Amino acid sequence: MTTSDRPTSLHRMSRRGFGLLLPWGGLVALTACSKNPPPMTPVAIDPAPAPNPTATGGGVAASASGTASTSGASLPLVDPADPSAKALAYTADASQVVAASNPVHKPGQACRNCALYGGQPVDAAGPCPLYPGKQVSAGAWCNAYAKKAG
Ligand code: SF4
Repeated sequence: MTTSDRPTSLHRMSRRGFGLLLPWGGLVALTACSKNPPPMTPVAIDPAPAPNPTATGGGVAASASGTASTSGASLPLVDPADPSAKALAYTADASQVVAASNPVHKPGQACRNCALYGGQPVDAAGPCPLYPGKQVSAGAWCNAYAKKAG
């Protein structure tokens, strides 16, 4: 028997061990998945999210008609009377939040410094995933507020 005729460890594994390794590989993969579950987010993902009005580079200006516009994009502002807005105590002006009924609100909290806000700091309004197809005022607030990191 020459050196090349001798079974290598790979040959031995392919004959015996590899069949045993496959189930273990699957188990390892399952274990790895269960140790790192996907992050949970409290927001529903809209299949057609509202376009980011800042993506075009234009600012957002809220108008008296209740809409916010950018260069090419015009989405209506969230109506505080809308049931989805009421459910989250959305208030168009964070300084007008009633503390007694919204004890989680802290002074200084507003959409512009919320992690969910999609507008730029200079924008008067921007998208929020909680209100697909609408924009929230930068100075608004709701009880889903989450402080933006940084
Ligand atoms: Fe959206 Fe945050 Fe404003 Fe609530 S406070 S409307 S979650 S951006």
